[in-house]
Amino acid sequence: MTIFSRIIAGEIPSYKIAEDDNFFAFLDINPVSWGHTLVVPKQETDYIFDLSDETLSDMMVFAKKVAAALKSVIPCRKVGVAVLGLEVPHAHIHLIPITKEGDMDFKHKIADPDPARMADIAAKVNDAFEKLG
Ligand code: AMP
Repeated sequence: MTIFSRIIAGEIPSYKIAEDDNFFAFLDINPVSWGHTLVVPKQETDYIFDLSDETLSDMMVFAKKVAAALKSVIPCRKVGVAVLGLEVPHAHIHLIPITKEGDMDFKHKIADPDPARMADIAAKVNDAFEKLG
C-alpha cells in the first residue's frame, strides 16, 4: 500500500481538499507555494501515463474543479500543473497557485509550513470545492 493509499484510507492524516469515488486531493506537506495540492487516483498505479485513458481524463477533470476552488481562495494568477512522480510511486498531479515562474520551483519549498495556516487553507478550499457542486 502506498503512502497516498494510506492517506486516502485515513490511516495517515492529511489536509484534505476534496474527494469523489475515484480521486482524492490534499495539500502537499512540503509545499512550494501556499495551496500546493496533490490530486491522486484511488487506484494504485505508479506512472501517470500507465493509467487508462478514461481514468487519466477523469483525473484531469477532477483536477480542474480543484484548481477552480484553489484559485477562488488563494490569490494567484493561475494554477500551475506539474507531474513528477519521482518520490512517491502513486500517480499524482501537483496543482500549484502561481503568480510568477519562481512560485513553481521545486527546489525551493516553504520551510516548516505553519500547520494552522495549512489547515485554514484546506478548510477554505474544501468549502469552495463543495460549493462548486
Ligand atoms: P513526486 O513523487 O516527485 O511528485 O513528489 C511527491 C510529493 O508528495 C512531494 O511534493 C512531497 O512533499 C509530497 N508528499 C509526500 N508525503 C506526503 C504526505 N504524507 N502528505 C502530503 N504530501 C506528501
